[in-house]
Amino acid sequence: MPLEIVRNDITKMKVDAIVNAANQSLLGGGGVDGAIHRAAGKGLLTECRTLGGCKTGEAKITGGYNLPAKYVIHTVGPVYKDGKQGEKALLESCYRESLALAKKRGCETIAFPLISSGVYGYPKDQALKVAIDVISGFLLENEMTVYIVIFDKAAYKISEKLFTDIAEFIDDNYVDTHTDYRRESIRLCAPFSASAGSFTADHCEYKEISVEDDLDTRIKQIDESFSQMLLRKIDEKGMTDAQCYKKANIDRKLFSKIRSDIHYKPSKTTAIAFAISLELSLEETEDLLRKAGFALSHSNKFDIIIEYFISKGNYNIFEINEALFAFDQSLLGA
Ligand code: ADP
Repeated sequence: MPLEIVRNDITKMKVDAIVNAANQSLLGGGGVDGAIHRAAGKGLLTECRTLGGCKTGEAKITGGYNLPAKYVIHTVGPVYKDGKQGEKALLESCYRESLALAKKRGCETIAFPLISSGVYGYPKDQALKVAIDVISGFLLENEMTVYIVIFDKAAYKISEKLFTDIAEFIDDNYVDTHTDYRRESIRLCAPFSASAGSFTADHCEYKEISVEDDLDTRIKQIDESFSQMLLRKIDEKGMTDAQCYKKANIDRKLFSKIRSDIHYKPSKTTAIAFAISLELSLEETEDLLRKAGFALSHSNKFDIIIEYFISKGNYNIFEINEALFAFDQSLLGA
């Protein structure tokens, strides 16, 4: 998955580069900076001394020394005052500059802490939004796997309003013995529309054609595999393959596998990621999922959260993943 939010200690990440939320001296400090220097060992400080510091919003690279990561990219986030001192632009620049450096060194994987969100005081939900916006923009043009590492659960907050809305939606829909009215009504409606042709001749003719057409299309689609339906939908939506897999937060290699194997069975999260990317309705999403042997259910929080976003017409996979993360659910993508 090109962008993943994980809960971890960044010094433990096995990636090509980890990013350090450093200060301008680059000579170590508290928080994540202290943790990285402790884990990397003295060699890191020795190399940092040669760099001549770093300006806010810029980034410099060193070796990883005793860390599992090959490189450390040191960037200096802004100190947050009131949000009106250009803090956002500087924070965006930290992510952009770090990603550019990683790309220049040929990194395929990189892990970021939530820069500025500790001692520097940037509100955590806004800091996360900046991170997601810049990284997802970068990933539209570049191939890389990027992790946002959240150290402690308390550090992670989606907006109160979104959290409450989703929690209410789960409360309203999360039931074990509940009738699924939508599915029920589809089931009940089916025989009515099929027999509607018998009322009047006019009606009959009109209905028969439409029922036949509908049946014809449906029969043709019965044998359609997940992969075939996915490719058909991409065409119908006028998207390119790359637009679709990038928006789905799926990497190119996985997409190629799906494209070349018509019997490919994706995981449920991958299938949903494509439904989100294609902005499918709830019904179309269920169709696509069925092709892969899955369904959305009301006895599953994950499914209800997906349903919440689709019903609101919000197809931003990164926002959906933030919410899934906040509710301790698996994330969408590969
Ligand atoms: P800043 O000075 O840029 O605010 P901090 O180190 O104080 O930097 O905090 C940045 C973020 O890094 C905070 O959200 C903090 O919880 C987090 N953090 C601290 N230690 C670690 C660690 N070992 N791994 C990942 N994140 C960490």
